[in-house]
Amino acid sequence: MLVDYHVHTFLCKHATGVPDEYVDTAIRNGISEIGFSDHCPWPSGFDSKYRMIPCEFNSYRKIISDLKEKYREYVNVKFGLEVDWVPGRMDEVFQNLDSEDFDYLIGSVHYTDEFPFDNPDSIGKWEEKGVADKVWHRYFELVLQMVQSGKFNIIGHFDLPKKFGHYPASMDKVNKFILEIFSVAFGNNMAIELNTSGLRKPVREIYPSLEILKLARKCNLMITLGSDSHAPDEVAANFADAVNLAKSAGYTHICSFDKRMPKLQAIG
Ligand SMILES: [Zn+2]
Ligand SMILES: [Zn+2]
Repeated sequence: MLVDYHVHTFLCKHATGVPDEYVDTAIRNGISEIGFSDHCPWPSGFDSKYRMIPCEFNSYRKIISDLKEKYREYVNVKFGLEVDWVPGRMDEVFQNLDSEDFDYLIGSVHYTDEFPFDNPDSIGKWEEKGVADKVWHRYFELVLQMVQSGKFNIIGHFDLPKKFGHYPASMDKVNKFILEIFSVAFGNNMAIELNTSGLRKPVREIYPSLEILKLARKCNLMITLGSDSHAPDEVAANFADAVNLAKSAGYTHICSFDKRMPKLQAIG
């Protein structure tokens, strides 16, 4: 089976179309489960241009439960959320989320402290000397905190700092850090997503790279699939490439989530 667990809605203010159209693309592509995982709201405000406001969360929940009912015979609709890891500012978020009936939560890092490193406006800053090493290092520190928290099911777009083609000076040093993250993630029953949106970005590569995915395999980390759709026709985009990548790294199964419980399913 195939799942697409990384799908946004118009509520985040930077996605087009209506949720029905996303479900329709999933059905046309033979996807078994489509999971919505919009950007989480932040009670005291964070990155507010790119996410729903807290009082819209009720609509988000209702959109998904209505879709689940409406398309029940054709595709399984899942209730997820993409939650940023922002050190020191997570309590206010989880106060609201802990009581929700999510199928899964994706943990993502889009900021290294104040630096929105994956925002196209940040490209100039990336060119400055020493920035790439610093950003990658801090990025992995934050991802490690995120997986250690035990609050999440899926690691979102794991090597996102490569988006504009910038890498740390030594990937070997970084790999040690990655193995540490993956072993903690494995201990917390998490999966890593193969996120095909990287193919639509300057780096033209799935997140994570084959090299990193092989490290995940070595740590027995489960995988799942996500398109990071912000438009209806992006659902399941390039999933054949994702399946090939998974197989190249030695994977035969992907992971689905139901009420936050992982289940391995044969790929395809
Ligand atoms: Zn987005
Ligand atoms: Zn993201």
